[in-house]
Amino acid sequence: EDHEIQAQEAEAEADSRDRGSKATADPKTERIGEGLESCVGNTPLFRIKSLSDATGCEILAKAEFLNGGGGSPKDRVALNMIKTAEQQDLLSPHTGDTIYEGTVGSTGISLATVCRARGYKAHICMPSDVASEKSELLLKLGATVERVQPASIIDPDHFVNRARSLAARHTADPIIPGRGYFADQFENEANWLAHFEGTGPEIWRQCGGDLDAFVAGAGTGGTIAGVARYLKGEVGEGRVKIVLADPQGSGLYNKIKNGVMFNATEREGTRRRHQIDTIVEGIGINRVTANLEAGIELIDDAIQVTDEEALSMARWLVEKDGIFVGSSSCVNCFAAVKLAKAMGPGHRIVTILCDSGTRHLSKFWAYAGDVNETTGNQVKEIFGQGG
Ligand code: PMP
Repeated sequence: EDHEIQAQEAEAEADSRDRGSKATADPKTERIGEGLESCVGNTPLFRIKSLSDATGCEILAKAEFLNGGGGSPKDRVALNMIKTAEQQDLLSPHTGDTIYEGTVGSTGISLATVCRARGYKAHICMPSDVASEKSELLLKLGATVERVQPASIIDPDHFVNRARSLAARHTADPIIPGRGYFADQFENEANWLAHFEGTGPEIWRQCGGDLDAFVAGAGTGGTIAGVARYLKGEVGEGRVKIVLADPQGSGLYNKIKNGVMFNATEREGTRRRHQIDTIVEGIGINRVTANLEAGIELIDDAIQVTDEEALSMARWLVEKDGIFVGSSSCVNCFAAVKLAKAMGPGHRIVTILCDSGTRHLSKFWAYAGDVNETTGNQVKEIFGQGG
């Protein structure tokens, strides 16, 4: 027993050194983290009771909305992108550098919080049609926000291209202090690596290595690629099924099912952005980014979810479980239910709850409406007539 206590003490001491905290080595003392960054990662995994009961599968949710900072998986990504750039001497708080990013919101919010904590300025370019609470929040965090007209990815005014060129212009300008750094969540591999090193191993440990499938949407592809690389490539011996949850209007479903991607030029050029077709924010794209590329070979299947289905899941989760989440989480959960039906009872399926519904009040939740007695029994809507 003495040995055990000694080992625990040594571990607690090592932990507190790692985190730079002053927590005592007393094993009875909970660890005290250093700064908000210490609250990023190690999110809980829990069983969604209503969906598990209804499907006969175990539907487990990784509560990524509980991440410190921006309250989404993007906290992991923002932190890893910034740390990696610091290690490569591309960023330093001492030179007054500014981070530029193109984002529909979550990554910008996470970057803005990390920037504040680490002494950087943040300049965020986002499409003008995303939920207004996201840009309002960015302003409260002291970021500079540019809302740009939705445009094709090949258009220089697309929010991602705009952020890239502003960063380059900043660096080249001798008058503006510091450097400009384009975080580039779509192509920056520090993104999927954050999930390969964090989200994936956490899920594996939390499940004790016992899970049958992982299902998630792709915005940059970082989550699904990083988790797939870990669960399937690193430890799962190929056993864990990896399934993409895709909202209506996204080209990825067709890419995974039929190997065909819509031409980004034609598709987004004529129909502007993919989000024009859906009220779901943050997932669904019409191109294979470097982050998706990192794991696309490991994706076994894709499940498409309509806006109506996502909205019914939003109301369902509140009504049955008191879970209030955003649009991509609802797409994930609906896809998990469809997967459970396809796989049959007795399987363990893990998915992601990305962010809180409070980020989506003015858009997705405005469509979902209030949850009250009249929302009624959604079982049939979700589980089909046999429900
Ligand atoms: N949900 C939300 C709310 C997001 O903003 C994003 C990323 N844009 C995702 C899910 C998808 O994550 P990833 O970028 O890792 O594919």
